[in-house]
Amino acid sequence: NYRARSAFKLIEIDDKFRLLRPGSVVVELGAAPGAWSQVVVERANCLSQVKDQPIGFVLGVDLQPIAPLSGAEFISMGDITLKETQDAIRQRLDDRLVDLVLSDMAPNPTGSAPTDHIRIVKLCAIALRLAVAGDVVRLKQGGGAFVCKLWGGVDTDELVAATRKYFTKVNIYKPPASRDDSSELFIVAKNFIGIQNE
Ligand code: SAM
Repeated sequence: NYRARSAFKLIEIDDKFRLLRPGSVVVELGAAPGAWSQVVVERANCLSQVKDQPIGFVLGVDLQPIAPLSGAEFISMGDITLKETQDAIRQRLDDRLVDLVLSDMAPNPTGSAPTDHIRIVKLCAIALRLAVAGDVVRLKQGGGAFVCKLWGGVDTDELVAATRKYFTKVNIYKPPASRDDSSELFIVAKNFIGIQNE
């Protein structure tokens, strides 16, 4: 009953790293068709299905249209690299502090692994900036977390190093549901420490 098999990757990531709990406030970059959102709605208790637990919130954004999902809010046909989309994210979040920023964004594959790597790392870098800079998303100091999907390659280490500037616990994880023959990896970062003075 998930919209895509990708749901199982987020389930495995969350089972291992414990990112989602009832009441979690989540921003999802690259959310179409909404399978991860379904997992978040369940685990963050967005529909208040567990009565005496906090109610979560999820805002998903994608270039593509996303069919409505009960318990989730979506910004469809929004490019997260554009200021107008970032403004819309800020507005829809209102004053909420965010627990978790997820990026499952991927560019259209060109067939050239090095080119695809460079492109997806660019999206990851933008996702990281949105998560930590504080002007669009206000990530919780201490508890805030960040996950992004990439296709491994020459710039993986640099992206991990950039992530470590803002989070004390940073792991690279390949969930079993991610096919063995792909270079797909997830950076899982916990304990947001904010922007430190250089
Ligand atoms: N996590 C989703 C799910 O479980 O249903 C699957 C996401 S899919 C692997 C990757 C998505 O990233 C695509 O739908 C694509 O449109 C989106 N994407 C790529 N670049 C984007 C951008 N600049 N802004 C917003 N979304 C983007």
